[in-house]
Amino acid sequence: MIHTHTYDALVVGGGGAGLMTAIYLSRQPNLRTAVISKLYPTRSHTGAAQGGVCAALANLEEDHPEWHAFDTVKGSDYLGDQDAIEIMCEEAVPVIIELEHMGLPFSRTPDGKIAQRPFGGHTHHFGQGPVRRSCYAADRTGHMILQTLYQNCIKQGVEFYDEFQVVDLILADDGRCCGVVAWEVATGDLHVFHAKAVEFATGGFGRVWSITSNAHANTGDGVAIAYRRGIALQDMEFYQFHPTGIYRLGILITEGVRGEGGILRNDLGERFMEKYAPTMKDLASRDVVSRAISKEIRDGRGINGKKYVYLDATHLGAEVIEGKLPDIADFCRTYLGVDPVKDPMPIQPTAHYAMGGIPTDIDCRVLRDGRNVLPGFYAAGEVACVSVHGANRLGTNSLLDLVVFGRRGGLAMAEFCKTADLPPLPRNPTEFAEAQFSKLLSVQKGEPAARLREEMQDVMQDDVGIYRTGEGMTSALERVRALQKRFDGVVVGDKGTRYNTDVLEAWELGNLLDLAEVTTVAALNRTESRGAHMREDYEKRNDVEWMKHTLTTRATEGGPIDITYKPVTLTKFEPKERVY
Ligand SMILES: Cc1cc2nc3c(=O)[nH]c(=O)nc-3n(C[C@H](O)[C@H](O)[C@H](O)COP(=O)(O)OP(=O)(O)OC[C@H]3O[C@@H](n4cnc5c(N)ncnc54)[C@H](O)[C@@H]3O)c2cc1C
Repeated sequence: MIHTHTYDALVVGGGGAGLMTAIYLSRQPNLRTAVISKLYPTRSHTGAAQGGVCAALANLEEDHPEWHAFDTVKGSDYLGDQDAIEIMCEEAVPVIIELEHMGLPFSRTPDGKIAQRPFGGHTHHFGQGPVRRSCYAADRTGHMILQTLYQNCIKQGVEFYDEFQVVDLILADDGRCCGVVAWEVATGDLHVFHAKAVEFATGGFGRVWSITSNAHANTGDGVAIAYRRGIALQDMEFYQFHPTGIYRLGILITEGVRGEGGILRNDLGERFMEKYAPTMKDLASRDVVSRAISKEIRDGRGINGKKYVYLDATHLGAEVIEGKLPDIADFCRTYLGVDPVKDPMPIQPTAHYAMGGIPTDIDCRVLRDGRNVLPGFYAAGEVACVSVHGANRLGTNSLLDLVVFGRRGGLAMAEFCKTADLPPLPRNPTEFAEAQFSKLLSVQKGEPAARLREEMQDVMQDDVGIYRTGEGMTSALERVRALQKRFDGVVVGDKGTRYNTDVLEAWELGNLLDLAEVTTVAALNRTESRGAHMREDYEKRNDVEWMKHTLTTRATEGGPIDITYKPVTLTKFEPKERVY
């Protein structure tokens, strides 16, 4: 059964970015807005964010948006667009105050201001040493942001469609965006949501890799849907590995531990980051620290020769750990049987954050080919590539990106809806989605999706992870493509309609495979090392040839991937060699 709904504006995703946009849309009189989310909104991955959200508030020491912008540009390995970065760092200050006024319970300084702590790559005086810039609510910052935004949405009467999985984007015959198709999880019914403007705020795709900090639901649906509809993806080769995931589980141990003074140590007990980043040490940017950890492990200095090192917080004392990092202490006790007050934590790098995604301008308008606006389509948050993170994101800049660009997206969509008309739906808007699902449900004998997913994750972890080579990635691409072929033979055990998470997981695997393929293609193509993209066969950054964004497009399902480029926007920060 197919249902149809009509709105002015739709937000797909109930994480930080989507809810911030929804708050801004709902402030407009006479604008019908709905949020569609496959998860109950407060279960979104934003709720798992721990360490903080940054802004140059200067509550504890001198700080300026300009210093923040410099750090972000340098962190991005000069691939971030500087105009967008400047906007983000300037708007950070009023947006954090706005969150405080919405009721966000930040941790406080003794005199009652929002507390701030150091984080990787955030410095004073353009690189002179760590600065306290990250605002936090203990180690539950994302949880508090998500709850605060959700409560404000409820207060303002935002309409929610919870547990509705968007499976397709609807483009009108004249090319404008005019809605989405969603699968209602409880019933298996398809719904057509018809609207003037749609924002994707569907988050990241960390589930492409086997060791990941990302939730089960982070399957990149929004990125994959846009890609399937012929929209370019930008900078897909840049995927961040966070230095400190719990050994083998990947569960995140926030960088806030190092912000509070935690130290990384190898098997010899050495504080090895002194070798790699003499000034910032353990608080260098994530790409630098993750590579250093991997190198220590590869050189045989992992603990007992195994694939992990220690994160040592034992010198911080029980008061700091229990007071400022309570959830981390809990995770360690629960998952590891390790008490961080007394023992060091075994950690290894973990897949964490997509710098690439759907290209947008500074008002979240999607750029169909990386250059031209697709009217009515917006993207914000981790799904989008503005690009403020370039080749490597700094810690606490993502939560900031959500609230700054979530807000800007809401304002831009509201403005657009004032004058735009509702484009007519194309004939048979559900045709593609129906075909996808009937194919998935028609296979009677075959392989389970879980087996393919695991194989894909291992391939990507081994060969498209922190250290990459042409040879490894060529082989990875072949194996991913073989998995894409086998995907046609995936069997879904549950043929029913009610809460058929089996079929939805199989559909999500299709997304992950597409994203694994395009990530590998983009990574193979970029013959240099920059930020999170480290090639052992091209170890140096090459600004002459590669100071540009990658755009990958696939015109037809299963067709060749076309690669083009777009220049990086520079304003006042000249590219330099990065040293921390
Ligand atoms: C463990 C962890 C800790 C982190 N800590 C920090 C930190 O301290 N500071 C920081 O700045 N960043 C941190 N990050 C990164 C940051 O939290 C994320 O990048 C950010 O929360 C993503 O927010 P989002 O709104 O884009 O998406 P999400 O919060 O992931 O929300 C995505 C939403 O989209 C919906 N959705 C997805 N697909 C569909 C679909 N097909 N149909 C309908 N709805 C859909 C989901 O239901 C969900 O509501 C952390 C990330 C992780 C994983």
